Formats: sequence, C-alpha cells, structure tokens
Amino acid sequence: MTTQASQVDPNFKPFHGRLLINGDWCGAEKGGTIERRSPAHNYVVGVYAEATESDAERAVKAARVAFDSGPWPHMSGSERSRILRAVADGILSRKDELARLETLENGKPLAQSLAEIEGAADLWHYAATLARNLHGDSYNTLGADTLGVVLRDPIGVVSIITPWNFPFLIVSQKLPFALAAGCTTVVKPAEVTSGTTVLLGEILIAAGLPPGVVNILTGPGRVVGEVLVTHPDVDMLSFTGSTLVGKQAVAKSAQTLKKVSMELGGKNPQVIFDDCDWEAAVDAVVYGIFFNAGQCCNSGSRILVQDTIADKFAAAVVNKAKQVHLGDPLLPGTQVGAITTEKQFETILAYIEGAKRAGATIALGGARVSRAGYFIEPTVITNVTPNMAIASEEVFGPVLSVLTFKTVDDAVALANSTLYGLSAAVWSSNFSTCLTAARRIRAGTVWINTFLEGHAELPFGGYRESGLGRELGRFATEDYTESKTLQMHLGARTNWYLPKP
Ligand code: NAD
Repeated sequence: MTTQASQVDPNFKPFHGRLLINGDWCGAEKGGTIERRSPAHNYVVGVYAEATESDAERAVKAARVAFDSGPWPHMSGSERSRILRAVADGILSRKDELARLETLENGKPLAQSLAEIEGAADLWHYAATLARNLHGDSYNTLGADTLGVVLRDPIGVVSIITPWNFPFLIVSQKLPFALAAGCTTVVKPAEVTSGTTVLLGEILIAAGLPPGVVNILTGPGRVVGEVLVTHPDVDMLSFTGSTLVGKQAVAKSAQTLKKVSMELGGKNPQVIFDDCDWEAAVDAVVYGIFFNAGQCCNSGSRILVQDTIADKFAAAVVNKAKQVHLGDPLLPGTQVGAITTEKQFETILAYIEGAKRAGATIALGGARVSRAGYFIEPTVITNVTPNMAIASEEVFGPVLSVLTFKTVDDAVALANSTLYGLSAAVWSSNFSTCLTAARRIRAGTVWINTFLEGHAELPFGGYRESGLGRELGRFATEDYTESKTLQMHLGARTNWYLPKP
C-alpha cells in the first residue's frame, strides 16, 4: 500500500445547492441547511437546503400536476429522446465539474469519478434510444370480430431515492429510463452526496425539460424519504440503498400499493478454481474489493478458493493488495480514496474487530490509516469460516474474506449460502466448469473470467434480499409503465340477453 499527502486548495469555495421544485430553485421552507465536509480532507465542500415534509409535499404535488396536466407524458418518443440526448451532452460538457464535486463529497479517486460521469452520460444516451422504442403488443389472433392491443402507459409519479456510493451513476440508472417512459419524478439523493444530483437539475433545465417533470429534494432520508415512500400521489418507488432501509420502505409503500424497484445490498463471491488464469484472477480480486474502497453493492467481498491453491492464492492477493495506491483522491494515481462517512468508517472497523474475535486471521491491513480523513487499510482476512459474520454480512468497505472449497458442488453451496444474490464471478480456464457453476449460482449477474464490468444493454439487479426488479437493459423503460389492454369488438355483438322463444 502506498499513501500520498493531502492537497488542499486555498481558493476553494463550497458548492451551494437548493431544492428544485416545479422548475424553480428555492431554499427549504424552514430555512435549514446541511453542510457536507470532504471525508478525505475535512473541509466544507457543499451546503444544501435541508428539505422538510412540507417541501416534499410541494415536490410531489408538482410532479403530480406535471404528470396529470403537463406535456411530458404525451410527448412523442422522438421529442423525449431529443431532450434525453441533450442531457447526456450537457453532462459531458460539465464532466470535470461533476467529477470534482463527486470526489470531494464521496472521497473516491478523481479519475474514477470522471469515468463514472462519462458512463452515466452513456446511460442517458441509451435511455434516449429506448424512448423511441417503447411499445406494447397487438393480438390479431383472437377471432374475426376481435382485435386486442396492449398499450404501455407511463406509470405516473416516481420517487427516486439514491445512496452515497455512486451518486451520479445510480441516479442515471433510474431517472433517464423513467423519463423515457413519460413519467414525472421526485429525486432524493443521499444527504452526504447531494451535489452532483443538484448539478444534474441545472443540466435538465438547460436541456429543455418542462417544469415539474423532475423535482430534486436534498434532505434527510427519515424526513424527506419517508414522504416519498408513503405519499398516496406517488405511483412507484425506485430505491437503491441498504437492505434494511429498503425492506422498511417496501413495507411502508405497501400501504398505498406502490410498484417498487429495489436495488439493495450484496455479499458477492468470486469463485476461484485451481485452473484459473492466475494473474487475471488475482488482479480482479484486488480490484473487486478495493475499487471504491469496497463501498460497492457489487463488491467481491468474499473469495471462495479451491483448497488446492488457497494458501498460495491468498498470498498472491495480499502481495498485490500491498501495492495498491491509497491516498488523496484528488491526486492522479490514487486508486483507493476515503471511506465516505464517519459512520461507515466505524462500521467497517467494527467488522474487522468482530472477525478477529471470531478467530479469523488478519493477513493484511485491518486498521485505520494514520492520516487525516476516513481511510482504512486494504484488508485481507483469512481463516474465515462460513458461520462468521465477516463471511455472510455486507461490510461495505475494503475488507476481503477468504474462504475455501473442494468441489463445484461445495463452491455453489457456499456461493448461495448468504441472504443476498446480487452478483458473483467464476474463474476457471474450463468453460464447462464456469458455466456449470454460473448456472447454479443464484445471483442477478455472474461474471465469467472477469469482474465488475457493466453495460447499459445488460440488466442489473438482485435475487433474494439483494432486491426486486432489474434496471438497465432493453426492458428498463417498461419497468416504469403500466400495461393497458384494449379489447375491440368489430361488427355486430352477440347479445347476452336473449328474449324467450
Ligand atoms: P441507506 O439505505 O442508508 O440510504 C439510501 C437512501 O435512502 C438515502 O438517500 C437515504 O437518505 C434514504 N433513506 C434513509 N432512511 C430512509 C427512510 N426512512 N425512508 C426513505 N428513505 C430513506 O443506504 P446507503 O448507506 O446510502 O448506501 C449503502 C447501501 O446501498 C449498501 O447496502 C449498498 O449495498 C446499497 N447499494 C445497492 C446498490 C444496488 O444497485 N444493488 C447500489 C449501490 C448501493
């Protein structure tokens, strides 16, 4: 592990963000604000309006009116597509500003933020293509006197609630697809990383989005999020965050029977067979756990290694992990930045202590880095057994657990042994082994001989407690629709009531 000194710009001015309601930027009704400090540098980088229930009510109302009486749901796919493309171009034209703010609020390396902003723009471009392709179905097979048509109707007002680990990328996995379908929305980013979502609001307005179609609320989840989850005028909830809060949100939203799309936690295994491409697998394991300081729903936070190579493989991972560049996320070359919040920092350290107490071995790291900010050493834990919390619970930090297996059956059973099912990887030079394992692992994504790749065309989401529904892919816009059946009768209808003969 190498670390680099922090860099503080003396001319830096924090970003100020307000609420976007019905096309207007405004302060919170009660005048409150939230301050955000950089987790890597500990200076104030953002100041946001702290929305309350009444602001949330106004935002939902604006979205409702924009849906019920505004132009957006009735625009042609081609017009909506043009605006989504303009948003994508607007994102790219402000990508440096967006990336810098993302890094300052989240603590992730600047080059990574830049790549994420560019990836997000690609999602807006992809959604623009779907806006023109959304269509229903027709049935010309129901008999000479019947024609059936199935319409795709935008579902209505969608609440979009996002977490702090990939703030801009995740809002871009949801919002453009909801807009492509013709929905109107209220968006609530995580309170610690609101900046880039607020900047997105400026880009949306510049692209010509009508007022009320996207409303943005910065504020605490338990206040603002609560309104968005329970409000009767909201038709659908699209949520990404922890499984705990996600389950509570589903239960509360059930009072008004909202449709839900939930992207939640994971404890994702990389299964390493003894005939794997060694270099590639070691590199992907290190990348899979230390990318974004392990704060990914998709983190490869446990590796299952065939017992014949387990010690040697773990040693190679430790050796490579020592070379990872940890440090100031603003400096070029940094690969691992800060942990995003103090609370998460404490949670990760507590998991490491728990693993020690349970009898596991800290093969690398295991402590905070002695510098300002919330930095944790890349950590590798061996002698982990399936019954330990570190083997089955989501740590959401740079902490890798190493477990072993003997046969394909063992590997699959171990892979499927947690409550989660978001993603997994299988490493073997025998494709038959890869496919046998991949087909039996219960996860929404299984990578084969690679890890953490993503494409707009491929659906993403989880089995079991990792979520409900799928984002991305060609059906992504359909998720934001209701289907409506039109049954048409042609010619004279046979009466039900027949006069007595
Ligand atoms: P979190 O659940 O604490 O918060 C997520 C969002 O919910 C935030 O905007 C928060 O303000 C809001 N919220 C909090 N309490 C609420 C309430 N009572 N009602 C409504 N909204 C409320 O999650 P987090 O700590 O921000 O993010 C980390 C978690 O997100 C991890 O578990 C991670 O695995 C998960 N995640 C999942 C995916 C995925 O696609 N599956 C992607 C990224 C993150």
